[in-house]
Amino acid sequence: MWNRLIKSRSFYAVVLVLMLLAFALSQVKLETNARPLASPEAIGQLSELEDLNIIFILIDTLRSDRLSAYGYSRETSPEIDALATDGLRFAHHMSQSSWTKCSMASMWTAHYPVRTGVTRSEDAISSEARMPAEILQDAGYKTYALWRNAWVGPSFGFSQGFEVYHSPRASAVPPSVRREKPTTGVAGTDWDIIQSAKDFLLTHGQEKFFLYLHLMDVHQYVYDQDSALFGTSYSDIYDNSIRWVDRLVGVLVEDLDRSGLREKTLIIVASDHGEAFGEHGREGHARDVYSEVVTTPWIVSFPFRLAEPLVVEAPSENVDLWPTLLDLLGLDPIEGADGRSLRPEIAAATGNAEGVEVEKRFAHIDQSWGRKKVKPQAMVAVTDGPYRLVYRDVARGARRAELYKYESDRRESEPIGVSEPEVRKRMIGLAQSYLEQDPASWGDAPEIELDEAQLQQLRALGYQLD
Ligand SMILES: [Zn+2]
Repeated sequence: MWNRLIKSRSFYAVVLVLMLLAFALSQVKLETNARPLASPEAIGQLSELEDLNIIFILIDTLRSDRLSAYGYSRETSPEIDALATDGLRFAHHMSQSSWTKCSMASMWTAHYPVRTGVTRSEDAISSEARMPAEILQDAGYKTYALWRNAWVGPSFGFSQGFEVYHSPRASAVPPSVRREKPTTGVAGTDWDIIQSAKDFLLTHGQEKFFLYLHLMDVHQYVYDQDSALFGTSYSDIYDNSIRWVDRLVGVLVEDLDRSGLREKTLIIVASDHGEAFGEHGREGHARDVYSEVVTTPWIVSFPFRLAEPLVVEAPSENVDLWPTLLDLLGLDPIEGADGRSLRPEIAAATGNAEGVEVEKRFAHIDQSWGRKKVKPQAMVAVTDGPYRLVYRDVARGARRAELYKYESDRRESEPIGVSEPEVRKRMIGLAQSYLEQDPASWGDAPEIELDEAQLQQLRALGYQLD
């Protein structure tokens, strides 16, 4: 009988129908997990949602103009693009520095580098500073961090407010993964973070949580065979590694979709700085503040879908990031912050409010941050309206200023020289008063003594320190 059945056509017809049914059911399940569609006004009502989780994905060294979500011609970031497609994207966003520690201290505290005082290799964030993780922990969130960049290690004050602040153990690197930056040697890959994040979600996904993931593979130029799509130059490999990290982000998002957590989770993607490819004579980062090293993404995906991507065209910067998120969540603000909530700009982007006046933005680096015996040499960029001024200490107490018509010269390729003396004078005044500001209310940044193990970890990132 069994033989006859196998040979009969109706048997195959039944199998086909069953397969189609199974497929249809799997689609229905996906549909059940899909986030509800909502109008942009729902962003203003996020604070009313109970048990809203937050996943903050920091992709180290990610310049926004290399993401397809920001108009790049190569499809480097389909997964991140998808977050922006039914979420919120800040189109003209900047970080506060091109060096991780300085930039992240400003992002978390919402204070400019000159006020955090975290500008040299020994500086740490004061324990008096009120950090977003502390505010979230006090509001009942389980706070958990996974990181791989030693510059955001706990000794520099970054673990404040995190119940767990963990650097996952490096697992064996799969043979398909390549490393193209010979100077660096951070063990493992970002897969270690994604795997640990999945484990965390499995164990704690039903508690209200804030999960911070600091990914490092773009910094390290790590990618795998499937992401080797764009060529072999240094700059091509950077794109390959974005594609690889983008896929890892997709793995996490898929996990959230499958477990039903996506409908209860806010996902934020941001970066600490960009990367240079010779635009101003240098490769890498952490040495100056030209736009290629401080133009970074900021994308927010909501527990609901927007029918259209919402794009804030007004300028924004990393010091605004946490004031905005804390405001949207209905939590305490950071006292004395330089950054501010961009709720008005978000409302303006929906067409429901007037735009607000654009404020000045600052990026800052101490050019000698890693050289103990060399005095601080500030370099500051001020972006104001159509202009950008890059102002730096040069030899023997002198300072040099380069003015750009940023509006039409986003890559700062042609300084406008002395043709606009009034603008130049005003912008130099802005840079000088930035540098003369008082420290934050918690005072100067404490200095820590770096031990040999720490120095080794930091050198593994490719920095020279003495
Ligand atoms: Zn970094």
